[in-house]
Amino acid sequence: MAKVLVLNASYEPLNITSWQRAVVLLIKGKAEQIEHNGKYIYEDFPLPTVIRLRYYVTMPYKEIPLTRRNILHRDGHSCQYCSYSGDDLTLDHVIPKSRGGGDTWENMVTACVRCNVKKGNRTPKEAQMPLHQTPRRPISSLYFEVTKHVRTGTHAEWRKYVIGL
Ligand SMILES: [Zn+2]
Repeated sequence: MAKVLVLNASYEPLNITSWQRAVVLLIKGKAEQIEHNGKYIYEDFPLPTVIRLRYYVTMPYKEIPLTRRNILHRDGHSCQYCSYSGDDLTLDHVIPKSRGGGDTWENMVTACVRCNVKKGNRTPKEAQMPLHQTPRRPISSLYFEVTKHVRTGTHAEWRKYVIGL
């Protein structure tokens, strides 16, 4: 299940593709090989892990689904109130649902059970539990996917192509 990071002509990450598709792009001359992992498909043809397109592609915006898993990933699997990072993390509504807070990227954060219970039906200000960072909608779905691969170690070599990791 080798995946390949595709860079735009500008060297910005563009998408993640299968190695088969990447090889087709290389053979057709539409992309150049930037990194490989030392394995060979044929003699003189290393298996790519990063390729770069020879032409520039404009990136469409792709919505990232608001799921428990994705919120935990955005928050680095740590409580946004006390930094605890262990099992049984929960999701907290910054403005409680009962007080009109919605299910949105801006209103949902990762919280440990203790902080969630302690905060209860209050805002962070009322509970005097400031958030470590303002929750935001992730900007780029690709960035989101790439950071998952880098953090889990499946493609650590992609790190240098992602700004801010
Ligand atoms: Zn906590």
